[in-house]
Amino acid sequence: TTHIAAILGRLAIAPINPAWSTGSIHGTSEGGALLESFSPVDGERIATVGEASAHDYHAVVARAVESFGIWRALPAPQRGEVVRQFGEELRRHKQDLGTLVSYEMGKSLQEGLGEVQEMIDICDFATGLSRQLYGLTMPSERPGHRMYEQWHPLGVVGIISAFNFPVAVWSWNAAIAWVCGNVCVWKPSEKTPLTATACQSIIAGVLARNGLPEGISCLVQGGRPLGELLARDPRIALLSATGSTRMGKSVAEAVAARLGKSILELGGNNAIIITEHADLDIALPAAVFGAVGTAGQRCTSTRRLIVHASVYEAFKARLVRAYGQLRIGDPLDEAHHVGPLIDRAAVGNYLAAIAACEVQGGRFLVAGEVLSGEGYASGCYVQPCIAEVSPDMAIVQAETFAPILYIMKYETLDEAIRIQNSVPQGLSSAIMTLNLREAEQFLSAGGSDCGIANVNIGTSGAEIGGAFGGEKETGGGRESGSDAWKAYMRRQTNTINYSDKLPLAQGIRFDL
Ligand code: NAD
Repeated sequence: TTHIAAILGRLAIAPINPAWSTGSIHGTSEGGALLESFSPVDGERIATVGEASAHDYHAVVARAVESFGIWRALPAPQRGEVVRQFGEELRRHKQDLGTLVSYEMGKSLQEGLGEVQEMIDICDFATGLSRQLYGLTMPSERPGHRMYEQWHPLGVVGIISAFNFPVAVWSWNAAIAWVCGNVCVWKPSEKTPLTATACQSIIAGVLARNGLPEGISCLVQGGRPLGELLARDPRIALLSATGSTRMGKSVAEAVAARLGKSILELGGNNAIIITEHADLDIALPAAVFGAVGTAGQRCTSTRRLIVHASVYEAFKARLVRAYGQLRIGDPLDEAHHVGPLIDRAAVGNYLAAIAACEVQGGRFLVAGEVLSGEGYASGCYVQPCIAEVSPDMAIVQAETFAPILYIMKYETLDEAIRIQNSVPQGLSSAIMTLNLREAEQFLSAGGSDCGIANVNIGTSGAEIGGAFGGEKETGGGRESGSDAWKAYMRRQTNTINYSDKLPLAQGIRFDL
């Protein structure tokens, strides 16, 4: 606790102080409701953060709208310079912010630091991008005419994020949205308000040093009702929402009803196909890290293994042995592989999924249980487990946000791909094979139906340089690298006539 208090001091936010979020930008009125942040690591209440009322929310968005006028007038490379400085501040605070992420969310310290590294990387990417917001020039069919396109900012971008990547997902959206000329209003997960406040205080410092209004980066703390306000608000030109498919369906409906734009990054049900030509020495750590890393709470966590019959028994034996070596405990202690689930409600979901799996005919190779005793006082630590299943079982079709791995057998690659694609979600997928034909079939139009398809690496984790997102119930959105920036801008086609005639398109004549 002392250690965390020192970190909060260095991040310029005081511990247990509802005033962190006061002020219209941060969105809390005096004496308003409070959000409590409990660490799943030790069950401690680490902070109370002021919650934004509807009144606060409207004041914050009004400030954002006001700030948009200033921010969009800045040339894009100058906006990139501000984002570059934000990246520099993140480098300075990497250890502290990464530790806070680990403590508030429960992921390992390495992953907490990795999350901050991802924020730094996207700032670098966005800085470069600020000089590359290219539009095309097309030949006009009319003489003496020039036709080209420009990309303009949208306005206020709303960001709703999930607890499992409490800071990186915001930065993927915000850094790109900012260089594109937008201002952002962030509603983080109500389960991780403290890391969000820390990020806000870092970016607020950068904006102030540049003489810019903090309204360029706004934070509203609260739960679902606040998310619903964002979804219904016509001032939010684009709403980027990361979370469960249930949340995404509700957001999509509300945003579509006002013909707004959304980017949806929802649940996954990711599989690795392990073929008879796989290098099992690679497949094993890929599967284990994918399934138990972040205690199975990544959208890209490996939930299903589809293993060829000829290597099934051998691989199963190695997998069970590897699970026997897992060390579960305090994620800030680097000796541990697996930390806690986010809260006791998540533990309840884990137990319910295990019970459902048994009822539906699953057979556990490594049994699940809730751990108790020394070091497990928060009640959030669970044993990662493995069940042998058939692919069509209802529980296998659903995403349970916990370290439960389903393993199943296949005979032909067509069958494996069919199984892989048979779930409602379409985020990440992988094939383990040294056979070129198998790899190419998996990557072809008739192969994986996911937004991410890997060969000889697992499903979990992604680099910021690629566009990130998935199909079907994963929501179809793309964020981060490649040309994902285009979703944060509006395209305008411009045709300029520099002749003394007025020829019409398609050769249409209109003589007066
Ligand atoms: P969640 O859906 O419970 O909450 C996510 C966010 O949405 C929170 O900020 C929450 O307050 C808000 N919210 C909830 N209901 C809402 C509604 N009706 N309208 C507006 N906002 C609402 O998800 P979670 O438990 O925090 O996160 C886990 C889920 O997120 C998993 O399904 C995981 O796969 C998914 N996820 C997806 C990605 C991706 O990029 N595809 C990344 C991370 C997490």
